[in-house]
Amino acid sequence: MHIFFPAKRIGNFFIIQDEELKHLRVKRIEKGERVGVIWEGSIYLCELEEEKKKEARLRLLERLESKEPPVRITLFQAVPVELRTFEVIVQKSTEIGVSSVVPLITERSFQKKEVLLKKRERWKKIVREAMKQARRPFPMEIKEPITLDQMEAKAGLNILLDNFSEGKRIRDLDISSLNTVSVVVGPEGGFSKKEVEKIKKIGFIPVRLEPYVLRSETAAILGAGIIMNLVGP
Ligand code: SAH
Repeated sequence: MHIFFPAKRIGNFFIIQDEELKHLRVKRIEKGERVGVIWEGSIYLCELEEEKKKEARLRLLERLESKEPPVRITLFQAVPVELRTFEVIVQKSTEIGVSSVVPLITERSFQKKEVLLKKRERWKKIVREAMKQARRPFPMEIKEPITLDQMEAKAGLNILLDNFSEGKRIRDLDISSLNTVSVVVGPEGGFSKKEVEKIKKIGFIPVRLEPYVLRSETAAILGAGIIMNLVGP
């Protein structure tokens, strides 16, 4: 089923305009055909009732069940020097159900905050496309980039994914009853020793994923995916 973001709702109708209207045309949706829409945290089953030059009207048929993730995950992600990789992380995190991503500027990460601020619109677009594909009705937030000095531990469990950690493995954590988890992931070149010490001091527990050293994006996606599927009631 194709999913769209309507511009407005009028009673039992949704109005599709602009980019989304183009998308509806590209997909060659015909009158009477069923589609889904994401609107204010819900997904609705609709049918295309009328298509005009500047808008299409969908009739609401029923509200579909939409799941909330069992755990709120915040991903503190050091921005890879290769910015394309951050886009992959944004896309996959949305699919997995991560609540928010905080871009981190670290010693070996991408450095230019102004460039990152300009990318936010593009990242939001990636989130929206991933929401459609995942049928996720709630957006994933992308916060402003921060440095480690601005990073704070949150309620619940705070972990640092650290391939050098000789302490805990992710499976050693007692996580089944948590509803909030924050995860820190380093850039391609990892964190410096000094940074690891700083992150631990803030309150993040180092844990490693077995058995190999992963790329930054693999660690982020796998870490978030494991937590999403093992944590919560
Ligand atoms: N250049 C480093 C690897 C960095 S990998 C080296 O040669 O050792 C990039 C980031 O992914 C790391 O900072 C860490 O946050 C995460 N990561 C990679 N593999 C991991 C693993 N096995 N366990 C936990 N985190 C890992």
